[in-house]
This record gives sequence, structure tokens and C-alpha cells, in this order.
Amino acid sequence: MTIFEKSAPGRKAFKLPKNDLEEVEIKIPEHLKRKKPLMLPEVSEPEVVRHYTNLAYKNYSVDKGFYPLGSCTMKYNPKLNEAVVAFEGFYGIHPYQPWESTQGALKLMYELKEYLCEITGMDDMTLQPAAGAHGELVGMLIARAYHLSKGDVKRRIALVPDSAHGTNPASAAMAGFEVVELKSTQDGLVDLDELKKHLNDEVAVLMLTNPNTLGLFEKDILEIAKMIHDAGALLYYDGANLNAIMGRTRPGDMGFDIVHLNLHKTFSTPHGMGGPGSGPVGVKAFLKDFLPIPVIRKDGERYYLDFNVPKTIGRVRSFYGNFLVMVKAYTYILSMGSDGLEHASKMAVLNANYLRKLVSKYFDIASPRVCMHEFVVDGSKFVKQTGVRILDVAKRLLDYGVHAPTIYFPLIVHEAMMVEPTETESKETLDHFAAVLEKIVEEAKTKPEVVKTAPHTTPVRRLDDVSATKYPVFRYKK
Ligand SMILES: *Cc1c(COP(=O)(O)O)cnc(C)c1O
Repeated sequence: MTIFEKSAPGRKAFKLPKNDLEEVEIKIPEHLKRKKPLMLPEVSEPEVVRHYTNLAYKNYSVDKGFYPLGSCTMKYNPKLNEAVVAFEGFYGIHPYQPWESTQGALKLMYELKEYLCEITGMDDMTLQPAAGAHGELVGMLIARAYHLSKGDVKRRIALVPDSAHGTNPASAAMAGFEVVELKSTQDGLVDLDELKKHLNDEVAVLMLTNPNTLGLFEKDILEIAKMIHDAGALLYYDGANLNAIMGRTRPGDMGFDIVHLNLHKTFSTPHGMGGPGSGPVGVKAFLKDFLPIPVIRKDGERYYLDFNVPKTIGRVRSFYGNFLVMVKAYTYILSMGSDGLEHASKMAVLNANYLRKLVSKYFDIASPRVCMHEFVVDGSKFVKQTGVRILDVAKRLLDYGVHAPTIYFPLIVHEAMMVEPTETESKETLDHFAAVLEKIVEEAKTKPEVVKTAPHTTPVRRLDDVSATKYPVFRYKK
């Protein structure tokens, strides 16, 4: 039931004091005036509270339970982050305020940028992109501008491995590149021979995720970087998986030239349901003149926005980007400290490997190697044996109160289920997840119908998710 259907004429949640000011007539053109009163729900305060509390109960979140959504790093978001953004000096400022009055906010952004440069091994950074995919687009535009600035107009190809996140080829295409897919090896890594075959003077950039989407570290990364640079191309790092290496190794040291991060994954700012996010892009010194404007700089004790970036790709976002997301990430970095960040990634890797071992009792794992922050189940044999699909397993998990892992990604694994537990889960939670999977596997063998028709206990059952994204309905219609 929507809040509109709970409405009753005249019912109110509060009363305004009687208006003791003189009425002023404002001339509004007749055609702009509303003909009917605005349709607002008329409800009492307890009704409002109950309505939204009940909706919140129906929702699943990382505050409610385990959320092993591979590639999404659904770590717990410390409540301290929320306390800090609630300071009026952060949430109450306006983007049009003069810089003299927002020095503290500029300082925070400047320092965040410095920390992130240190963590990634980059020399300069923009905090403007509003999401990971937006960061990728910015990175690709920088790569393009770089080659064009040298008169190197032939470089129109972006190489993207077949294991990449779908946003990678999309971003490269949006920036005007022709996307060429690189086949991975049997083990799911970059195939050096395949790479060599594709390298020529038309290649502008290789987009790489390391560890990749199978949770595997590209052990030949230094060799890959050398091959790319020798061919005159750039190496781009999709940093959405930084949680596996943060504080331990740096994309900058691996030879990457451009990096995007997802503050809303690795740096514990809430995400899901479309935002708000933050996807900073870091570059090596030779690319810093291409960054989008404005860049935050410091002159003595004064922080300012620099619009004078000689070869800038231009503006990519209004104002400063998603500032409060930056405040949360900054709070997280300071409260963790460098030791804490390193410990977090170690624990993320430990948790993933512990769970990988447990789950390997019930399912094949796509790679037998030690994984980084996540692993991928290969459900092909299970599907053949039981007739139950990985989609069904994912749906059945919901009945047991666990959020489903990412399924059918990466595309190179058939019947894939990608599990990323993150560092914030206890051993008991991981054991429980494995026990639930064991139960579901048993059900798939003995009473497959229960699994195939799951979920049974959620507020809604199987949804038409294609129509939901293709034809979303955001308006209430009576
Ligand atoms: C999440 C993710 C992205 C995209 O980030 P968004 O903020 O969702 O746009 C890109 N690459 C990888 C590997 C990811 O996991």
C-alpha cells in the first residue's frame, strides 16, 4: 500500500502556527497556476512513521545481514561516517559560497586527494566523477586527449579483457574508442601472446582490473605494463577492486598511468540503489594537465579551485562532485589509519579464501588458485546434475535471509556466482553462509521444485527484472 492510499482528507502530522504576517500578492501568470490542489498524502505522524519503518523492514541492506555481492564490496559502513557528515559545517554549506568561507571543505578535499594519491601511487587526482563508470569515462577522455595532444590521431583502439566489468567497454566506446576484446587464458588471466598480437600503433589504452573480476591477481602485470608502454599506449586501472590490495601494493607501482576508484566500495560509503557515489580519477604526473577542471590546489595556507589547467578535458560534473561522500571516505581513511587500511584488505582476502575453501565442498570454483578479495563459483556441473540453475540458488538464499551474490558475471564463467564477503564479516557469518549453501544443494537434489520456485518468504517473488530496468515506473498513478 502506498502512502497515498493511506491518506484521509484533513488528517495532519503537524500544525503550523497561525500566520500573523500580512498577505503579499505575487503576480503569477494565470497559465502557470495550478488548477487543482497538489495531491499530497494527508496522514498523521504515527502513520508516516509506521509506513516508512515497514518499508525499511522490507528492504535488505548491509545493516541487516550478510551481503556477499561480488565486485560490489558491500562492506559495513561505520556509523562514525554518518556522524561526521551531520556536522553543519559539512552538510550546511552551499556550492555558491565564496572559497574564503569554505576553506575547511576545500582542505578536506585536498587532503583526501593527497591520501588517495598516496594509496594508489598516483601524482594528481580529480574528485569530481560521481561513480565508477563516470570515472572510467573521464579516464578514457584523458587518454584520448593525451594521444591527440601529441598529434597521434591513429590511436583509436581500447583493449578490454573479456573478464572486464561491463562498464569498461561502454566507457571506452562513449569516449569514442573502438573496443577490442582480449581473450583471457584458461586460468582467467591476461594472455600475453594474445596481447602481443593486438598491440600496434593504433592501440590507445588497455583497461585492466587487478585483481581481476575472477578475484585473481595478474601476476604478469609488470610485463603487461612494459608491453603497453613500449607500444606507446596507456595502461588504465579499474580500481573498483582496490579493497584487495589497499595498503599492500599500488597501481602506480604496477605501471598504471590512470586509475579510478570507487569511494562507495573500498572506502565504506553506502551504495546501492543508484547512488550517490564518487569515482575519483588519479593520473601520473605526465597526464596532470589533462585533468577535468577545476582541480583543487593549495597556495601557502589557502586552498583554491584551479581552472587554469592547460590541456583539460573540460568539466565533467557540476560544482565539486558528491562532497558528502568524500567526507565519509575521508573519515574512514583517518579513522582506519594506514595500518587499518592494510589490515582491512588482508582480512578481506583472508575471508574470501576461507569462504572459498568452505564453498568448494559444494560447488566447483572457477579457478583453483588462491584468490584475492572474491572468488567465482562455476555452477555448470551443478546445473547439469540437478537441473537447478544458479539463478534459483541465488533466489533461494533470500529465503534464508542472505543477500544473493552476483550471478552470471563475469561472462567468461557459465552459471557464475561471484562471492565477495569483505573484511567486515565474522567467521560465524561465513560459516553460516556455507551451511545455508549446503542446505540448498541438498534441496536441489531432493526437492528441486522448492529451489526453482524460490523465493517463498520475501515481500515480492520473482520479478521481471528486464522490464523493471527498461520501463521503470517512478510515478504514482491512481
Ligand atoms: C562497480 C564496478 C564498476 C562501476 O562502478 P559504478 O560506481 O557502479 O559505476 C566498474 N568496475 C568494476 C570492476 C566494478 O566492480
